[in-house]
Amino acid sequence: MLWRVIVLGVLLVIVYFMVKSALQGFFSKGQDVTRSVGTSGRPSEMVQDPVCGMFIPKEGAYFLEQSGQRVFFCSETCRANYQKKLSSAQS
Ligand SMILES: [Zn+2]
Repeated sequence: MLWRVIVLGVLLVIVYFMVKSALQGFFSKGQDVTRSVGTSGRPSEMVQDPVCGMFIPKEGAYFLEQSGQRVFFCSETCRANYQKKLSSAQS
């Protein structure tokens, strides 16, 4: 029965934020909502590290070229782990 309470709570929070943002949009129409994320100027794209599942900003992230596609990592350790996994899968 506890999960019902949790689900209900999550739903309430979602509804609360939806109503809140709707009201904010209603009262402050005309203001730019697009600049709410990323206060440091240019918005940075977030990418997921396939090794540990962490999200990191694309800029400054470690990456690896794999068949023309870039795979991004949070650290050199994760990149090394990924490379290790790749080479062990191939052999
Ligand atoms: Zn990582």
